[in-house]
Amino acid sequence: MNISIKSKSQCCGCGACKSVCGTHAITMVEDGMGFKYPVVNPDKCTDCGLCLKKCDFIPEYSKIDNFEEPLAFGARHKDNEELMTSRSGGVFAALADKCIKDGGVVYGAGFKGHFRVCHKRATTVNETKEFKGSKYVQSDTEDIFDAVKADLKNGLKVLFSGTPCQVANVKAFVGPKLRENLFLVDIICHGVPSPKFWKDYLNYLEAKENRKVSNVNFRNKEKYGWTSHKESFKYEGCYTYTYTYTFYKHYTFRDSCYECPFCNTHRPSDLTLGDFWGWEKTNPTFNLDDKGCSLILCNTPKGLKVFKETWENLHVITAALEDCMQTHLKKPTKRPELREKFENDYNNKGFDYIIKQYCRETFFERLRKHLGVAKRKAIQRYRIFKYK
Ligand SMILES: Cc1cc2nc3c(=O)[nH]c(=O)nc-3n(C[C@H](O)[C@H](O)[C@H](O)COP(=O)(O)OP(=O)(O)OC[C@H]3O[C@@H](n4cnc5c(N)ncnc54)[C@H](O)[C@@H]3O)c2cc1C
Repeated sequence: MNISIKSKSQCCGCGACKSVCGTHAITMVEDGMGFKYPVVNPDKCTDCGLCLKKCDFIPEYSKIDNFEEPLAFGARHKDNEELMTSRSGGVFAALADKCIKDGGVVYGAGFKGHFRVCHKRATTVNETKEFKGSKYVQSDTEDIFDAVKADLKNGLKVLFSGTPCQVANVKAFVGPKLRENLFLVDIICHGVPSPKFWKDYLNYLEAKENRKVSNVNFRNKEKYGWTSHKESFKYEGCYTYTYTYTFYKHYTFRDSCYECPFCNTHRPSDLTLGDFWGWEKTNPTFNLDDKGCSLILCNTPKGLKVFKETWENLHVITAALEDCMQTHLKKPTKRPELREKFENDYNNKGFDYIIKQYCRETFFERLRKHLGVAKRKAIQRYRIFKYK
């Protein structure tokens, strides 16, 4: 038996199966959305079954080290610069700093080439800065598994961060013998958008503006605050939200995201990071300035220990798990009815057609958004008035 894909929703595209294959029988091949899937060369495959054994994108994924229930905390970085350049409360930055200062290496999602999102290895605090902030695109991990294993074999401490599917498969790939020095951090995940759509979107923006994008910020907290989700691109001061719009429409997600087995509180990592939506229930003054705060779930004793070691750089509050339960800790994103049609139209009619047909907010969507923002701002002003 080998990993031949029968249904796209069974594969998260991490590439662990390719890395583990001793006969190099597996190649990762892109579909029409730019998502990668393994293809097995039957002439090279020896049917050893290792590719299947090392795949933990299954409901029975390993969680043997986990507490019965995770311990929940809210936190934000004490350093304003770290806070503002992170997506939520900057907890990842504090963890990465600690790991590097202890002589370890950090893996996370960065950029290669012209904003192609992929996992990279960092050995200095400066190199880890690229991993900060959410990139709303599936990160390519194809070549990273062997590097993680090699570091662990060399006795290095490794912090690996990514989506829960990437983390679960790194854990399975590395195996229990090398687990001691591996610290796993996953993010609460809405779903990962298509790399091809992202590339086409950048091309579209650059053609429209007739200049190259030199900086990407998928959520600009500085200009719009933490609560609103608006991207910004630097050719000086260009702000758009079309990409964000498609993100929340869920058309561009990988098939496996709609059937993700990790949307619960039994996480495959030591520590889970997310946006702390509902922070006010725990402490009504924690995020009065709307600069953002992280939700942290300590899933294992190791997760709790390492998190505590970062507290000198963080403001931390304890929380009750039931006050932190956002949607993606309960269930995956629902597959939109038009998902298949979207993909067919994208492949047959092209990106320009998609932008016109699927990426324009209707009047009612715009109205609902403006009313939502106005309501949130009014509540925020009331809170400031009450507690300051
Ligand atoms: C695609 C995506 C969907 C998300 N959906 C939700 C959600 O529904 N609810 C929620 O609470 N939080 C979600 N998050 C997580 C959230 O936005 C923050 O990343 C998280 O709270 C950590 O914040 P931070 O301030 O500590 O660190 P930050 O500096 O903001 O985050 C950095 C961390 O995110 C990782 N990362 C960034 N982009 C990617 C990527 N494309 N693939 C894999 N890892 C990546 C980095 O490796 C690093 O570990 C999502 C993130 C991504 C990338």
